[in-house]
Amino acid sequence: MMEQFIEIKANNPGSLLFYRMGDFYELFFDDAAEASRALGITLTKRGQHMGYDIPMCGVPVHAADDYLQKLISLGYRVAVCEQIEDPAEAKKRGSKSVVKRDVVRLVTPGTLTEEKLLVASESNYLMTLARIRGNSEQQMALAWIDISTGVFRVAETEHTRLLADILRIEPREFILADAIFHDPELKPVFDVLGRVAVPQPAVLFDSAMAESRITRYFGVETLDGFGTFSRAELTAAAAAVAYVEKTQIAERPPLGRPERESGNSTLFIDPATRGNLELTKTLSGSRDGSLLKAIDRTVTGGGGRLLAERLMSPLTDPEVINHRLDSISFLIDEPSLCGDLRTGLKHVPDMPRALSRLALDRGGPRDLGAILIGLQAARTVGQSLSKVMLPPELEEAMASLAALPDDVENLLSGLLAEELPLLKRDGGFVADGAYAELDEVRALRDQSRKVIAGLQLQYADETGIKSLKIKHNNVLGYFIEVTAGNAGPMTDTPEAKARFIHRQTMANAMRFTTTELADLETRIANAAGQALVIELEAFTHMNNAVTEQAEAIKAGARALGIIDVAAGLAMLAEEWGYRRPIVDDSRMFAIEGGRHPVVEQALRRQSAGAFIANECDLSPKDGGEFGALWLLTGPNMGGKSTFLRQNALIAILAQMGSFVPAASAHIGVVDRLFSRVGASDDLARGRSTFMVEMVETAAILNQATDRSLVILDEIGRGTATFDGLSIAWASVEHLHEANRCRGLFATHFHELTVLSEKLNRLSNATMKVKEWDGEVIFLHEVGPGAADRSYGIQVARLAGLPDAVVERARDVLTKLEDSDRKNPASQLIDDLPLFQIAVRKEETRRGPSKVEEALKALNPDDMTPREAMDALYALRKQL
Ligand code: ADP
Repeated sequence: MMEQFIEIKANNPGSLLFYRMGDFYELFFDDAAEASRALGITLTKRGQHMGYDIPMCGVPVHAADDYLQKLISLGYRVAVCEQIEDPAEAKKRGSKSVVKRDVVRLVTPGTLTEEKLLVASESNYLMTLARIRGNSEQQMALAWIDISTGVFRVAETEHTRLLADILRIEPREFILADAIFHDPELKPVFDVLGRVAVPQPAVLFDSAMAESRITRYFGVETLDGFGTFSRAELTAAAAAVAYVEKTQIAERPPLGRPERESGNSTLFIDPATRGNLELTKTLSGSRDGSLLKAIDRTVTGGGGRLLAERLMSPLTDPEVINHRLDSISFLIDEPSLCGDLRTGLKHVPDMPRALSRLALDRGGPRDLGAILIGLQAARTVGQSLSKVMLPPELEEAMASLAALPDDVENLLSGLLAEELPLLKRDGGFVADGAYAELDEVRALRDQSRKVIAGLQLQYADETGIKSLKIKHNNVLGYFIEVTAGNAGPMTDTPEAKARFIHRQTMANAMRFTTTELADLETRIANAAGQALVIELEAFTHMNNAVTEQAEAIKAGARALGIIDVAAGLAMLAEEWGYRRPIVDDSRMFAIEGGRHPVVEQALRRQSAGAFIANECDLSPKDGGEFGALWLLTGPNMGGKSTFLRQNALIAILAQMGSFVPAASAHIGVVDRLFSRVGASDDLARGRSTFMVEMVETAAILNQATDRSLVILDEIGRGTATFDGLSIAWASVEHLHEANRCRGLFATHFHELTVLSEKLNRLSNATMKVKEWDGEVIFLHEVGPGAADRSYGIQVARLAGLPDAVVERARDVLTKLEDSDRKNPASQLIDDLPLFQIAVRKEETRRGPSKVEEALKALNPDDMTPREAMDALYALRKQL
């Protein structure tokens, strides 16, 4: 057996091996040591290997899911090795023969299907990266799969957006070729992913095999019907398929066909922004306090996942966004329908995940039950919708619901019992009356049980032992139990001894059986065996019927998710007074009465007063083409960060297709959203706060376009004042002149406010405060103009700095202000010429220069080295 173990172990490096022995999965050697430590279970030993004890530990099969969950969450991968033949077969080969075993599945974080191992409201993505190198350029693509629901997507990506694209999907496992994993250029990306990134052998990423791998998986001749994909996309998709095959071994989860997502159809949110805005979790990692938590009113797992997916990937096409908004408007206008839909959805189980388990042969009766309840709910929901004229998105959803197969629902409702056991081998899930034959054996079993109850009375009578009981356990089966002191009548005479056969003596009880009892026992066991055979056949029948309709059921489940999301967002809008944003192709950004969705709810929960709504207008002015920038000054604690974030969040909500926390909003779609807010300490990665700030700022200045929205909170704060001011100054100019994006820029450097004199699309705004009796009161109100002071010292006093320090600081401040007044930095505006970038851009727009024209006319392939040299000299002369 050890030989077999060692061989299998060698074939599965990098995984803990769960080796099936009877009712346990056993682990040996180093695996045992690791697992016992990780799971807190006892390490024992079994036999010897080369003269040493073999460490061993084990987990019972029925509880394996719990242990798997723990190991997976700790980052382990587990190879599950089962007995693949009946032990009786092995015996036939000889008494020393070992039962054949093999690994039937690799359990990895990205390939889970068990309910216990998954979070209902979160997708569980496996992602692959492929890179194809051509002569001059390289192509990269990502594919992602959720085998628990069958979702399968691919998209092209680039070096600069790779990390953002990965984090948008939040894969649980990220698979890539060894060589790419070790590529120093991409290493920083994989460092961020940590142990989610798993290198794999290059064969998985063989682009020559890609197409055939996919066609084989889907059982089709060609990929023509799937749409067009680049080579990199195909390779990434094929790698995902290959990895699923590698981990699932004998089974094939029902994947949807790969769908292509084009790079510019979603709002690009860079990784730092994604984290800082706390979209799905807070910086400390909790879901509470995130935007998702604040807006989630969905009632189904599928709806919750879809909402999260939309929040992570807002759109850029106004038409699709407006379709989503139409659904919400419609449901707000039809409150009773909306209520009915939500009630109908409330008990919808997770159909896609149940379906996946059934297709993978890991399903149980409750998964069939989930499909049945889901189909019934889908019918009710579909009927409610069919009574009215629907907007396009809901119309389409209803069509998917109408296409759901009645026959599967009828089959399941006819066959399934009310109460369903977890495991099919426990039986009892087929309804009474479904099969005459099953009813018969069940009657036999029940009758025998009644006879046993009769026997108990009879034996008690016969022996005069009133407390005599007939009991059952798994070891003895049925037996008669009496207390030790009472056993006399059953052991005293030879006749009694012959009738009551002794089985067991316990500390204070004795157990017996009789031939009658043993007979009944056999009859019951036979009946149960027969019943189970019939039930298992019925299971297979139902399982097949369901999986044959997998596509329709998945589409139906997706439709329910869409309805759940729309109804949930309608509820949210009603509850918090959200309004429908106008979303179009303009460059408007006009928000009236805007609020921060998370802070607003937190304030109400804590009864901490109302949130002060604020306006924000970054729309192009005076018929201009480009949007505006606001430079926001104001004291600490004044509400600057809150204001910055709320506007970014409103843009995200609008583009994911939700109403927004504002009295009105008009947003021309944003193509990229960037932020540099708060001090997200990255010290663990060995970068100083200032360095992080600069890296993030660099990304923004390099990538923001004139359709982007940029939110910058106090850049240049982490260094000496003049350094900081200079960097902030130059950055504002660059945003205005080169990026020409819409943006909000909060700063402590009041000197910057003079820039609005020269930069025509830059306005000053400030957080209003009231000074009263030497104290400062924050009004949280944004108004035009610049703050005249920082109130830093007042805030420090509020925070409890010792009076002596506060007093001293006032003195120092007065001195500093005096000297600044004599030579203020704001005078710089007169001394510094305006930033030159725009001028250079103008030049290029005017058309190519003479030298460029001449250069363009050259054809190096047709020139001799001598001619090339001459041409170079001639060009030089023209300068
Ligand atoms: P700053 O960035 O200017 O230091 P913050 O945005 O962190 O200020 O806000 C400080 C506090 O004021 C926060 O605790 C927040 O809850 C509260 N606050 C901010 N804006 C508002 C508002 N518009 N209405 C009510 N409270 C607000």
